[in-house]
Amino acid sequence: MAKGKINVSVENIFPLIKKFLYSDHEIFLRELISNATDATLKLKHMTSIGEAKGVEYGNPQIEIKVDKENNKIHVIDQGIGMTEEEVKKYINELAFSGAEEFLNKYDDTAKDSGIIGHFGLGFYSAFMVAEKVEIITKSFKDEPAVHWSCDGSPNFTIKKAKKEDRGTEIILSIADDSKEFLEDSKITGLLQKYNKFMPIPIKFGMRTETLPKPEDAKEEDPAPTQEVDNIINNPNPAWTKQPNELADDDYKSFYRELYPMQFEEPLFNIHLNVDYPFNLTGILYFPKMTNDMNPQKDRIQLYQNQVFVTDNVEGIVPEFLTMLRGVIDSPDIPLNVSRSYLQADGAVKKISSYITRKVGDKLNSLFKNNREEFEAKWNDIKIVIEYGMLSEDKFFEKAEKFALYPTVDGTFFTFEELKEKIAANQTDKDDKLVVLYTSDKVAQHSYIQAAKAKGYEVLLMDSPIISHLMQKLETSNEKVSFARVDADHLDNLIKKEETQISKLSDEEKETLKTTLEETISNKSYTVQLEAMDSDASPFIITEPEFMRRMKEMQQTGGGGMFGMGSMPEMYNLIVNTNHELVGEILSTKTAKKKERLINQSLDLARLSKGLLKGEELTEFIKRSYEMVK
Ligand code: ADP
Ligand code: MG
Repeated sequence: MAKGKINVSVENIFPLIKKFLYSDHEIFLRELISNATDATLKLKHMTSIGEAKGVEYGNPQIEIKVDKENNKIHVIDQGIGMTEEEVKKYINELAFSGAEEFLNKYDDTAKDSGIIGHFGLGFYSAFMVAEKVEIITKSFKDEPAVHWSCDGSPNFTIKKAKKEDRGTEIILSIADDSKEFLEDSKITGLLQKYNKFMPIPIKFGMRTETLPKPEDAKEEDPAPTQEVDNIINNPNPAWTKQPNELADDDYKSFYRELYPMQFEEPLFNIHLNVDYPFNLTGILYFPKMTNDMNPQKDRIQLYQNQVFVTDNVEGIVPEFLTMLRGVIDSPDIPLNVSRSYLQADGAVKKISSYITRKVGDKLNSLFKNNREEFEAKWNDIKIVIEYGMLSEDKFFEKAEKFALYPTVDGTFFTFEELKEKIAANQTDKDDKLVVLYTSDKVAQHSYIQAAKAKGYEVLLMDSPIISHLMQKLETSNEKVSFARVDADHLDNLIKKEETQISKLSDEEKETLKTTLEETISNKSYTVQLEAMDSDASPFIITEPEFMRRMKEMQQTGGGGMFGMGSMPEMYNLIVNTNHELVGEILSTKTAKKKERLINQSLDLARLSKGLLKGEELTEFIKRSYEMVK
């Protein structure tokens, strides 16, 4: 037996490793399985190029065994193994210097950044949970097996071992503070999390498989069963295949494999596959976007060569696409760096813009190839697209071709189509094209009806971020402005040359205005007299577009003017001087009746804007019953 001292400058590296990445102790298993996988794939490569004469590759597995009684975990592979020489070189020197370098590189600030702690620590991460680590290994070369052992100090022992078959067994003697890893359920959970799609079959115990009943079996006969290896992974997940090998159903079943607790089908998928100038594969899915969606659940998973790394892809995938689901796998994403570094990394930037472009292309082809289906899905995907248009200029340009603007009647226009459709009727006297929209078909019903009566198209724009998008569309289309149907009365929203003649004289208007202002003085409405069609409503409450939109933008984050969010709502009371009722208000002699006419009309206007509530609504109803009598 030989003894030795691992030659490192940091004497107490083990306690450091133990302390480091406290919350990430569990990665040891992934690291050991990664090494076992690498060793197996190396052997595969060697045999395929004829470098391993007389060696049969066979159907190698990796086996995980938990020996609770003796506090041990075994990770066993049938890979290339190591000679004594190699153990000294790769374990004592390389693995250790790798670990040392890793620790030197990452200080506490980097530790908080989330992504580091993934890869880098390698073999020595075993010491985060073990008080003793042993390696029993036999190389595929014709050399004796080796038994290496290290108890957590820089001292190790190395001796010959009896192992006959090729491969490596790592034995961890689990430390007292890490006993949780001796629970089968804990290990199963880790294997599910990190190793579900690794390329070599991983066995953890046995399971009972039910076989089909033989033809001549009786009804009451139990189905036969057999004990089989419990293989926890799918070594050939869909994203490692070529798109032309996969049917629609394969994509759907892979989605269920990824998210077993997701019962809703994805709307469509995007297969990512590049190898130049970087390597990236993956499948992204558009889920149905619902209000109760939990963005922290079932997120996009990042893999490196089929090893799970994280489900926090922030900084790698553009923000608007983090709402999607699926996997991306790339060996080119640097993982042991902080997020701020990641965002500045050139390769990562290229990856991010590639993903954006692919998503844009896919949406465009869906739109072109089957517009009807695309329209049917619009409501479920619009949030992602609208958010993308807002946050990525490249995507905005692309999306101009397929972003849809539905009307309240369910016709879907592209922006170009919309402009063409409304140009004749909705261009105002200053040559501005006014796009009318509603955010709520029910609440703004009377305003929508009034607009439709004039032959105007009304869009239904009800996304939470729509005010930001309109702002952006107005900036990039100089001659276009958006106005919600209740922002003003229609003749003001779309000003035409011809002005309506008012039935009232200037003097009468003056009197009317004063009367109105006095009667409703306790309510915060700005009175605005307008000469409108005599059959348009006498009283209308409007909410100026600019202020309302700024407020909304404030509430949905950024973009609006500072402090707008806390401003009270502002309303105008538009009074149609050409309406008979308004004429009556003016001519009525009794003050009491005048007041009643005004208050009742105002309440009706408030009712139609959804502003009459609570006690005031009760009063209004009571009063109206009285009038009916
Ligand atoms: P890395 O995997 O990044 O090379 P590790 O610290 O995980 O770093 O492992 C160090 C080295 O030890 C590996 O490169 C490999 O040569 C050797 N090694 C570790 N585990 C095994 C194994 N199961 N079979 C053969 N060689 C192994
Ligand atoms: Mg490794």
